[in-house]
Amino acid sequence: MSTSSILVVEDEPSIREMLKMALERAEFKVLEAADAQQAQSMIFESPPTLVLLDWMLPGMSGIELARRLKRENNTQDIPIIMLTAKTEETDKVRGLEVGADDYVTKPFSPRELIARIKAVLRRTMPSSLQDSLSINDLILYPAEHRVTIADEDIHIGPTEFRLLHFFMTHQDRVYSRNQVLDQVWGSNVYIEERTVDVHIRRLRKALSIQGCDHLVQTVRGVGYRFSIKG
Ligand code: CA
Repeated sequence: MSTSSILVVEDEPSIREMLKMALERAEFKVLEAADAQQAQSMIFESPPTLVLLDWMLPGMSGIELARRLKRENNTQDIPIIMLTAKTEETDKVRGLEVGADDYVTKPFSPRELIARIKAVLRRTMPSSLQDSLSINDLILYPAEHRVTIADEDIHIGPTEFRLLHFFMTHQDRVYSRNQVLDQVWGSNVYIEERTVDVHIRRLRKALSIQGCDHLVQTVRGVGYRFSIKG
C-alpha cells in the first residue's frame, strides 16, 4: 500500500471533498487545509509527499504559499501542483516561476489529476532516494513510501517514515534530539524537542507490531540510536 500523503489546500469544501475521494481511491493518504496559513503550519509540522494547492484562497494566496515553501531549504523539495480556474497563459507562467512543479486548470477530471500527481512524484524523486534500504527483515521503499517487516506492510506516518529513513542510513550512532530535529525536520524549523519523542514513540509502536521496536534505542541523557545491536 502506498502511504504517499497529499495535502489538499482548497477553500471550497465541495471541491476538497471531491479531491479527497479521488485521491483516497488512488490510495493516497489525504490531509486537508482550508487556507494557506493552516497549510503552512501543517507542512512545517509534518511535510507531506506533495501539495495540491489552490491558487485563489482567502488571506494568503496559493501562489504566495508556493513561493514561501520553495524558499525554505526544508520545504523546497516538496512537489507542488497548483490548481486554478485561471486559464491565462501568464498566470501559468507565474505559477511555474515561483517553483510549482505542475499546473492543473479547473475543471479537471480526477483521472487526469491522479496521472499528473504520479508523473510529478516520479519526476521529483531523486533516483538515489529510490533504492530500497534493508536491515534484516525490515525493508524501506522510499519511492513507494512503504515499509515492510518480513513481507508484512507496516503502517507508518510520513514523519515516522522520514525518521526511519534517517535512522536506517545513519545506524549505530547516537543523535541528540536537536540533531534529529535538524536532520529530519530541517534546521530552520522551530519545533520543540519533545516533538521528536512523540514521533519516536509512534515509530516504535509501528515497528513493535513485528517486534522490531528494539532497533530504536534511547541513550539516557543523550538521545537516540538506531542499531541492530542490543
Ligand atoms: Ca479557491
